[in-house]
Amino acid sequence: MKIILAAPRGFCAGVNMAIDSLDLTLQKFGPPVYVYHEIVHNQYVVNTFRDKGAVFVNEIDEVPEGSVLLFSAHGVSPQVREAAKARSLNALDATCPLVTKVHLEAIKYAKAGYTIILIGHDGHDEVIGTMGEAPEAILLVEDEADVAELQVKDESKLAYLTQTTLSVDDANRVINKLRERFPHIESPPKGDICYATQNRQEAVRVLSDDVDVVVVLGSQNSSNSQRLRELAAEGGKQAYLIDGPDDLDLDYFTAASTVLITAGASAPESVVQATIDWLIKHFDATVEVKQIREESVHFPLPKPLRAFAAEVQAQ
Ligand code: SF4
Repeated sequence: MKIILAAPRGFCAGVNMAIDSLDLTLQKFGPPVYVYHEIVHNQYVVNTFRDKGAVFVNEIDEVPEGSVLLFSAHGVSPQVREAAKARSLNALDATCPLVTKVHLEAIKYAKAGYTIILIGHDGHDEVIGTMGEAPEAILLVEDEADVAELQVKDESKLAYLTQTTLSVDDANRVINKLRERFPHIESPPKGDICYATQNRQEAVRVLSDDVDVVVVLGSQNSSNSQRLRELAAEGGKQAYLIDGPDDLDLDYFTAASTVLITAGASAPESVVQATIDWLIKHFDATVEVKQIREESVHFPLPKPLRAFAAEVQAQ
C-alpha cells in the first residue's frame, strides 16, 4: 500500500492560537479553567484538555462567579460576552481573527441598514456567534433551496457573508443563486471562507484523483473536516472521517493500493501519525508527502496572555 500524505493538513493558525491560549491560561491561573463550548471541534484535543483541568460549558451560568473563562476559536455573540461580564468572569478571548473579521463585516453592514444573508450551517457555534452580532439584520441560508424562499425588505441594501469553514464549491453555488435572484447583492472584497479551509480542500481535490481511499482525520462535529470527506466522496472515492485509528476497519482497505490521508484544521498531527502507523502495521504501507501549498499564517495570542507567554518561553 502507498499512502499519499496531503500537505497542508491539520492545525491552522486559529486552532494553534486557541490551543496555545488554553494551555497558557491553565498554566497561568491553574485549573479549573472554563471554556465556552469546545475550544476547537476535536474530541482528542477536548479530552486532553479535560484531563488537564479545562471544563467545557454550553451556558455561561454553568461557570461559577469570578472564574476564569476562555472563549473558543469559533467566536461568541455579544450577548455571551455580556453574560460573562454580568457574572464577573475573567474572560479571555481565543476567537480566530478570521471569524472576528466576519463579525465585523456583519456589524458594518447592519449599521449601514443592510439585510445580511449569512451562508452557513444552522446551529454551528460560529454561525450562532455571528448572528448574535445583528440578529435583526441577518438571515441564514444553508443551501440553494433556502435562497428561493428568502423574503427581503429592500433588495438594494443586501449583502452576503459566509461561515469560514464551508465547502468552496457549495458556497459558490449558493452565491450564484443569490446573485441570480438579487443582482445588486454586495459582499466583502475578500471572501470569508478561510485560507486553511480552502487549502485543505484544494489538496483533496488535487490529490484524490489517483487514490482508492481517502481518510480524513477529524471529529464528526468539525465542519471543515466534514467538508473534506464530502469532497472526496463527491469525487467518487471511498472516504472516511475518523478521530483516529481506533475508528478504522481492515475491510475499508481490501481493494486499496493507494490511500490519501489528510486532516481537518482542528485535528492534531499525533492522530495522523497514529493512523499512518496503523496502516504500516497492517498493510506494510509506504508514505509520500505531497505539498500542494505552503502556509505561513500565524495569529497572535490574546493580549492578556502575551507577557506570560514570553515569561514561559524565557524559562
Ligand atoms: S479553520 Fe479558518 S477560521 Fe477556523 S480557526 Fe482555522 S483559520 Fe480560523
